[in-house]
Amino acid sequence: MPGLVPGIHDLTATTASKTWMAGTSPAMTTWNSNKGLHMSSTSSNTIPTIDDIVIIGGGLAGLFCALKLAPRPVTVISAAPLGQGASTAWAQGGIAAAVAEGDSAEAHAADTVAVGGGLVDEAIALGIAREAPDRIDDLLRYGVPFDRDLAGKLAVGREAAHSARRIVHVRGDMAGKAIISALITAVRQTPSIRVIEGHVADELLTEGDTVTGLQIRKASDPGARAVTIPARAIVLATGGIGHLYAVTTNPAEASGHGLAIAARAGAVIADPEFVQFHPTAIMVGRDPAPLATEALRGEGAVLINGHGERFMTAQHPLAELAPRDIVARGVFAEIAAGRGAFLDARTALGASFADKFPTVYASCRAGGIDPADAPIPIAPAAHYHMGGVAVDAHGRTSLHGLWAGGEVSSTGAHGANRLASNSLLEAVVYAGRIAEDILGHVFPTVSHHTAAPETPRGQRTGDEMRLRRLMTSNVGVIRDGDGLAAAVRDFAAIETDAATSPLRNMATTALLVATAAWARRESRGAHDRSDYPAERPALAQRTRTTLTTARAIAASLADGARVAKTPLIA
Ligand SMILES: Cc1cc2nc3c(=O)[nH]c(=O)nc-3n(C[C@H](O)[C@H](O)[C@H](O)COP(=O)(O)OP(=O)(O)OC[C@H]3O[C@@H](n4cnc5c(N)ncnc54)[C@H](O)[C@@H]3O)c2cc1C
Repeated sequence: MPGLVPGIHDLTATTASKTWMAGTSPAMTTWNSNKGLHMSSTSSNTIPTIDDIVIIGGGLAGLFCALKLAPRPVTVISAAPLGQGASTAWAQGGIAAAVAEGDSAEAHAADTVAVGGGLVDEAIALGIAREAPDRIDDLLRYGVPFDRDLAGKLAVGREAAHSARRIVHVRGDMAGKAIISALITAVRQTPSIRVIEGHVADELLTEGDTVTGLQIRKASDPGARAVTIPARAIVLATGGIGHLYAVTTNPAEASGHGLAIAARAGAVIADPEFVQFHPTAIMVGRDPAPLATEALRGEGAVLINGHGERFMTAQHPLAELAPRDIVARGVFAEIAAGRGAFLDARTALGASFADKFPTVYASCRAGGIDPADAPIPIAPAAHYHMGGVAVDAHGRTSLHGLWAGGEVSSTGAHGANRLASNSLLEAVVYAGRIAEDILGHVFPTVSHHTAAPETPRGQRTGDEMRLRRLMTSNVGVIRDGDGLAAAVRDFAAIETDAATSPLRNMATTALLVATAAWARRESRGAHDRSDYPAERPALAQRTRTTLTTARAIAASLADGARVAKTPLIA
């Protein structure tokens, strides 16, 4: 990986390093568009003939990539029916793009760098910002009805920490729904795209450093027999990890399965400890929790505790409009102190609430709260994962044949904290780049006789909720060494003894997040350690880790030692 992801904080120093696929391979062959991949299949659980490009995930990253690959045949595997189980569909704000007069890609990149806690890869951030207008044009061509002003130009909104109005949106808070429905329509009209819905990928097959296929099974049946799909190019587009937490805004499908299968195949993982918490998830007993958009605070809604006191005014000059991580910590502290936290829009919006924020209003009413008359109970919720499968500027992972795009990947664009509305942008930019890269790629010849990987045979079932609670309590908004070590030990035990693939995958990703959070002994961006409250300049590097490293850290903590015996941190 050297040269591709600069400034890395290497947790893998004691393990064998992987080579990246930027170089050439001795036995190369060009993809032939007239040939499918002919499988000599005698096994009943192998799909015999299949397109050799498989995209795992049906959100923005997956569907956009499939469309950009057309007319080349591609199979999309989606855990849920298209349109469901994808964070994309729930996006309320929109996509950041410097399309307004007076704005520039340079200004956009500078804002991205400013919030990223010193870890944003500036060249990557600038590259993404520069491509934004072209990708917005693509989305318009696929039928996304972005709002326009009276002159017919794209209407742009403003969001926290953006120095200009640059959020393109659809009918107020409907961007995600509009994007996903336009893409689904386009996909359904594209004959080269085959979609397999209601199936999850729960294993990648490898030969050495090359990914040769995957195993899928019915999403509704964790015990179902896996089906093997050989592939020469796999694009991981499985979204985030928010649902590993008990309090989250993410759909259940965002449980880190994609990250886990890549890590188990040997892929390098970057920055897993950096998880962004949204400060104002609505606590009305729903899982996932509905979101009270930041725009409400922009309209003057304030944060109060159970005594009716505003608590953010004492913590930051911008009070409720302080950066997202600071507000999340303020809300967390009030709840931890037993005072509770509420979003109060009674004065700022009152009777106009329903008109101005119909989605949030509906969520409150469904929970028995009228936000025009009563404060809304809130809590910080796991919202976005800055970390993920490490990729280069083409979306290539450290494994041959495996690309990753969207929230499951880590490009370096977000550093330790994400700028609002940059994630949809990153997803669409990298999905486009991955398609281009695959179209021009030469693939090595592999035998496709890979042995089936081990399936979980442990005893533990039903531990999902316990794992999620532990993530929220010990690997959440505020962390400390002891709590993280305890979580690491638990996740390692669950991973070893899981009886089902979903539980094992959740534990694998939880282990990667918790070990990297344990190893980063400082507070930076969204990662807050109460035992190391200061940012340490010497640690201003991105994290690079693998599952082998995470397991080694877990083993070193297994005896209850507070500090690992082996120095695994650079
Ligand atoms: C409530 C909410 C509001 C947001 N608002 C904004 C916003 O305004 N602007 C912005 O930029 N970002 C926003 N985000 C973040 C943004 O929506 C996501 O980062 C982005 O949509 C991720 O796109 P994706 O394609 O990577 O993943 P997703 O859209 O989550 O799609 C992932 C796909 O993978 C499938 N999948 C998962 N695991 C498997 C598996 N093992 N096998 C097969 N399929 C699998 C899922 O079913 C889904 O189809 C928001 C997020 C949330 C939750």
